[in-house]
Amino acid sequence: MRHRATVILMSVRLGAPYKDRVDENGRVLIYEGHDNPRPDGAKSPKEVDQVGRNPDGSPTQNGLFANAANGYKMGIREPEVVRVYEKIKTGIWVYNGLFLLTDAWQEPSGGRSVFKFRLELANQEKLPTLTNTVVDQSRVIPTSVKLEVWRRDGGKCVKCSAKDNLHFDHIIPYSKGGTSMDAQNIQLLCVRHNLEKRDRIE
Ligand SMILES: [Zn+2]
Repeated sequence: MRHRATVILMSVRLGAPYKDRVDENGRVLIYEGHDNPRPDGAKSPKEVDQVGRNPDGSPTQNGLFANAANGYKMGIREPEVVRVYEKIKTGIWVYNGLFLLTDAWQEPSGGRSVFKFRLELANQEKLPTLTNTVVDQSRVIPTSVKLEVWRRDGGKCVKCSAKDNLHFDHIIPYSKGGTSMDAQNIQLLCVRHNLEKRDRIE
């Protein structure tokens, strides 16, 4: 059976609207829930609590995520698989890999209550039904490193100058001791060159 992954768009830049974090050396993302739109327009969404249910009782996006995480914690379902994209600059989104939704909670933030979701980097071998994932996903590369690499490589594949379907590639793979923390070990590759390199290593 094919499994469709949920998509999350996150933003860890300074001044980003949501307080998302990368923890545990890039294997765990803490993602903040969605603000609830205010139908009355009376207050900013940033001034009111994030809630798990709409006024009609149906779950909000936060509620659906919280139910999935709680179901997993209780052992009654598999974790939700989430595909995470991160905005590193205006108009530039990068793919951070596949994550599993393993925990959810609510916590105070700036005088209101927000949802937090724990996403753990998925072990690729456990996801045989999810195809076309080609990046070295052993670690999330910090945003500052991505921005430095993007500037240095001019937003192009370093092999063929393609500007589409780019991936941040570990020059020395993480599994062979290469770091995610230093731009010297990261380069931009298009999908094709990323796959070619992967085939050589494996
Ligand atoms: Zn290329």
